[in-house]
Amino acid sequence: MSGAVNRILVVDDDAMLISEYIRCLGEDFEPDLGATTLTDLEKVLFGDDTDERGAVKFEVHTRNQGEAAVEAVAAAVEAGQPYSIVFVDIRMPPGIDGIEAAKRIRMLDPNVNIVVVTGSVSPAPESLGKQIPPADKVFFFQKPFHALECRQLAAALCGKWHADRALRRANEDLERRVEERTTALQKLAYFDVVTRLPNQLLLIEELKKLIERAEDTEGDTVVVLIDINRFSFINETMGYDSGTELLRSIANRLSRTFCDDQGHRMAVVGRFGADEFAILAPGIQNDSEIRELAELVRETVEAPFLINGRDLFLKASIGVSWHPVHGRDAKSVFRCAEAALHRSMNGLNTSITYYHSEMRYRARYKFDLEVELRGAIEQGHITAHYQPQQCTKTGNLAGVEALARWTRPDGSLVPPSDFIPLSEEMGISDVLFESIMRCVCADVANWRRRGDWKVPVSVNLSAHQLRNRDLVSLIKGILSSEDIDRKLINLELTETVLLEDLTVAQPLLDDLAAFGVGIHIDDFGTGYSSLSYLAQLPVQTIKIDQAFVRQLSDSDANNRVVEAIIALGKAMQLVVVAEGVETDQQYAIVRRLGCDLVQGYFIARPMSADQLMTWVDGYEDTQSIKKRSLVADFDSKR
Ligand code: C2E
Ligand code: MG
Ligand code: MG
Repeated sequence: MSGAVNRILVVDDDAMLISEYIRCLGEDFEPDLGATTLTDLEKVLFGDDTDERGAVKFEVHTRNQGEAAVEAVAAAVEAGQPYSIVFVDIRMPPGIDGIEAAKRIRMLDPNVNIVVVTGSVSPAPESLGKQIPPADKVFFFQKPFHALECRQLAAALCGKWHADRALRRANEDLERRVEERTTALQKLAYFDVVTRLPNQLLLIEELKKLIERAEDTEGDTVVVLIDINRFSFINETMGYDSGTELLRSIANRLSRTFCDDQGHRMAVVGRFGADEFAILAPGIQNDSEIRELAELVRETVEAPFLINGRDLFLKASIGVSWHPVHGRDAKSVFRCAEAALHRSMNGLNTSITYYHSEMRYRARYKFDLEVELRGAIEQGHITAHYQPQQCTKTGNLAGVEALARWTRPDGSLVPPSDFIPLSEEMGISDVLFESIMRCVCADVANWRRRGDWKVPVSVNLSAHQLRNRDLVSLIKGILSSEDIDRKLINLELTETVLLEDLTVAQPLLDDLAAFGVGIHIDDFGTGYSSLSYLAQLPVQTIKIDQAFVRQLSDSDANNRVVEAIIALGKAMQLVVVAEGVETDQQYAIVRRLGCDLVQGYFIARPMSADQLMTWVDGYEDTQSIKKRSLVADFDSKR
């Protein structure tokens, strides 16, 4: 309490009484009999602020009317020098009475101790507390008073005033600290530590706010989600620290892009996930503004970043949706942006996708299909059907292609175009391949039991299998479990998949060839690429893409591509298969052009293992070939 001032305001219309206050609260006050006790009390209460005799110092101001007192209190509060006590007389004609003055004073200063001084019978203390709350800061005092009584009361109330203030400050300090801690905790919960951007939780809150505000304004609120393509690759090759640095740079750049020159935020920028960012832009007026926004985001992310002294060029996948068109609430709008983002991520050429309602249906359909597909593989509902290949020279059955078929419990068939790409996306194409391979080997073992089966079976590989280092040992294991000759198995790879990454494909194909299975190139002619790779690869057969076969006609111009492919095959000593032969005309042409094998509806449609047996029996009869002499006509390069 050192340096504390004890400011007291005395309000009374009686000049004599005012003088009495001044006397008893003044510095020259000479205490009489009770003085020792009083001085002791003052010392306890005020310590350093007492004078050399131990008496407390008061600064006394006086007013003789209620209104003037109210003004004095207002001025004191305004100046930051509030009173500790106001002594106020109850009756002060012609002005307002003491109670009214006290009420007004209380409004101005909630902390001052108000002492209502009355000559008559004192009002009940509780009624005073109700009229001029709080009750612990209002007192009454009866006139005429003893000087010592007055001084003692003043000393006690000034002490209380200082104690109250200290407590208030401690509380305020505590509140401030709690608030600071809460803000810090909120920061942790709502902001991403790496980029300092709002995280997904806060982004949802921010979008909620923007949507609420948008009720009163024109325009849509647009959500742009951005995924950095191959970010994990950057992390792996350049190191985790560089990955972090890159994330920060992207965050800073996006934040700068969406700030105007005065530093005003024009959109909310946040980190939505590991390598995903989000922009929330309010007040967008039309479609072209949405497109400009998405383009701006793309340009911002795709301009080169200097990381570790190297220029890094990123590719972004972007998904866009907007309120109120794609959803009424924040979560649905985000969900739509996510669906659009996934479309961008899975598409080959689309870096920006704008949400449209069909996606929700497809996403749902795909999700159901995914769950169903896993079950179907486990329960063996996916089996191989077989399509025969005929030798054009001898008419013999020269091979069969195994084609995956998913038979649903209701008997319906799901075509491979629906579930093979899905299995790749889900990362379970290896499992699917294994189950088809097992199915093929079991069927061959079965056929072998019924006769001397020597017809090779082609099994399709998908892109993912090219990266499976255990492919050779997997195939080896399956073949030996049924004791199947490796020469009976060919693997088909489409040309586009093969050319995607020859450096990966080449060693695998070499291993497979060394092991002894055949390698065929499927859908040949669609790769539009140098043919020199053919010479390097251990390939025995090329299958002309169906598209070329479909175009075959009597006009020579249309037949030139097929002719050229066949010539190439011959030059490289490869077996050439024409796929998708449907008509006798197509059959006649490919035969005339020198194609070795034919596969297509003209010969037979794909069929189950049992049906194939029946078909083979009938086929043999018509071709008058004995079942025992079924052999592969082409085995040239092995
Ligand atoms: P693909 O390997 O080129 O197989 C030939 C496709 O052409 C098969 O379609 C077959 O039913 C169809 N086809 C055969 N002859 C004719 C014809 O005369 N006219 C017409 N219009 N079509 C004909 P499918 O069975 O629907 O298979 C489609 C594709 O799915 C296959 O093309 C192959 O790339 C893939 N696939 C099928 N089974 C598997 C599998 O077990 N694993 C993998 N990875 N892919 C498979
Ligand atoms: Mg094939
Ligand atoms: Mg094909």
